[in-house]
Amino acid sequence: MSTLPAFQLYIDGSFRDAAASFDSLDPATGQPWARMPEARAAEVNEAVAAARRAFHGAEWAGLTAGQRGKLLLRLADLIEQNASRLAELETRDTGKIIRETRAQIAYVAEYYRYYAGLADKIEGAHLPIDKPDMEVWLRREPLGVVAAVVPWNSQLFLSAVKIGPALAAGCTMVLKASEDGPAPMLEFARIFDQAGFPAGVLNVITGFGPDCGAILTSHPDIDHVAFTGGPEAGRQILRNSAQNLASTSLELGGKSPFIVFEDADLDSAVNAQISGIFAASGQSCVAGSRLLVQNSIRAEFLDRLRHKAEKIVIGGPQDMATEVGPLCTARQRDNAAALCDRSVAAGATLVTGGKPIDGTGYYFPPTVLDCTEAPEAPCLTEEFFAPVLSAQGFDTESDALRLANDTDYGLASGVFTRDLTRAHRMIRGIRAGVVWVNTYRAVSPMAPFGGHGLSGHGREGGLAAALDYTKIKTVWLRT
Ligand code: NAD
Repeated sequence: MSTLPAFQLYIDGSFRDAAASFDSLDPATGQPWARMPEARAAEVNEAVAAARRAFHGAEWAGLTAGQRGKLLLRLADLIEQNASRLAELETRDTGKIIRETRAQIAYVAEYYRYYAGLADKIEGAHLPIDKPDMEVWLRREPLGVVAAVVPWNSQLFLSAVKIGPALAAGCTMVLKASEDGPAPMLEFARIFDQAGFPAGVLNVITGFGPDCGAILTSHPDIDHVAFTGGPEAGRQILRNSAQNLASTSLELGGKSPFIVFEDADLDSAVNAQISGIFAASGQSCVAGSRLLVQNSIRAEFLDRLRHKAEKIVIGGPQDMATEVGPLCTARQRDNAAALCDRSVAAGATLVTGGKPIDGTGYYFPPTVLDCTEAPEAPCLTEEFFAPVLSAQGFDTESDALRLANDTDYGLASGVFTRDLTRAHRMIRGIRAGVVWVNTYRAVSPMAPFGGHGLSGHGREGGLAAALDYTKIKTVWLRT
């Protein structure tokens, strides 16, 4: 019998074990530290049935939008009151460093507040049609039961941008936490439970993608699938939703260009590039993972990056001094090492890093590869999800734009220049859902976020995301 702390599923307002369970490994040591419930078909079916009952039940469907907003406000307060515990668990189970998990939980609460405020601002419309004896109006009704699936990185945030708008709109949800580091979401369920929502409005489960995730997203009683993860699982989600014809939003990966012109404020650009790629140990969908730097400053810029990268404090994720911690899984570390090796074999020059750090835990150092002479290097096209930057030099603005768009992804981008007319041309030309100019990684609950191409479709954040959790009913009334 295992002596590890055990987490539970949250279904229909109750905490319970699953028939199966699995060990969660501590990324800093590679050792099992907790036992996680593994939801399979039976538990998924129960969770979906609970969400369906709650969706139609008077306790939830009978609430006004303002009452739903008040519950979300209470949830935001509870998240703040429990911030340390949530941050510690996320750090323990995923290896994300404590200074990042603490900072992120503060704005997770702000996202819930934003959607609490939006709940009673989701409006229908009246149509002034050309028939004097007819009233026609549009009601915005909640979409129904939502399946949400999230990856391990930033789960509290990636679930807030789904739970907040969905519940504000009146939907109910089954959320599948990642099998890699589910502890923060299963603990979040305990906090959610205290906020006073009716049973079944949110159900939190975890389990493996091909079993639990696939059963959930293809379930006949699911109306919408909100997915964040990699493109391969995204394709599977679309195949799954062909069975229930659920609508989908897909927030997938990225290979985002970070473009630095010779007239940029280089101090600011170097700092932004360092956090743009090395924050979250590179496990961030918006990581500025392709540096495009004007050739006239390439050598200086790479040298400054190398100096800073080599001073980064690598250490235990619970230590406030740590700047880069372990990757979440051994698989991530091994993929990063293999992709670095393949890229060097294809002609990329290793500026710094490149090999896993010996010892326990899944550590990989901040790494920079110069691929200017190796345009076919795989690191320019494949997502690492690790602290690895691939650089390319360019001569002209049109070269920069061509290289920026030379990707199947289209999530984020950064442009560093003091020439604002050039910035405008780049903003128009870049194919990505977000363009940051002279800054990187800024976020706000008000600002929609999402991608094109291999980065998926749909937007999270802002009013539009809440509207995406509604459907329009057109009413014709003869007077
Ligand atoms: P992943 O796609 O392997 O897994 C993500 C989630 O999908 C997990 O919960 C997993 O269990 C589930 N899943 C896997 N296969 C499934 C299937 N067939 N059916 C249903 N669910 C399934 O991704 P990962 O490796 O855990 O996460 C990293 C990826 O997530 C990267 O590509 C990253 O860029 C992306 N990501 C995107 C965003 C964004 O907002 N665009 C944010 C964070 C991460």
